[in-house]
Amino acid sequence: MGYTYDHENIFAKILRGEIPNDTVLETEHSLAFNDIAPQSPVHVLVIPKGPYVTWDHFIDAASDAEIADYHRAMRQVIDKLGLSPGEDGQGYRVIVNSGAAGVQEVMHLHTHICSGRDLGRMIP
Ligand code: IMP
Repeated sequence: MGYTYDHENIFAKILRGEIPNDTVLETEHSLAFNDIAPQSPVHVLVIPKGPYVTWDHFIDAASDAEIADYHRAMRQVIDKLGLSPGEDGQGYRVIVNSGAAGVQEVMHLHTHICSGRDLGRMIP
């Protein structure tokens, strides 16, 4: 099944600079910013700059450079915020809500990086 990207979604507007964001870091193909309604003390969203609806859409349609950049950007966020357990950070959770069952509200791929509290056994 194909995907139709809505260029008026809120993250598209952020990428065009029409809506402000609290940027954590930016790479060639990705942008990371603080969630406007954080569910944990650390709640960062990482998005690709390209027009991808879901993670599977991204993997199917993006270039290897975009896919690598996106995952490197997540790693850079974890590094910048000192979250890696392997580096004595407190750890984190990565969440990608996809489609109706995943309760995806914004139809532009985004990865949630949450930390700063015990997140429990289920997603926040
Ligand atoms: P989803 O349910 O995975 O689609 O999550 C969408 C996320 O986007 C939610 O956590 C919202 O709080 C967040 N969000 C919506 N609008 C904005 C914004 O303008 N800036 C930052 N985060 C936003």
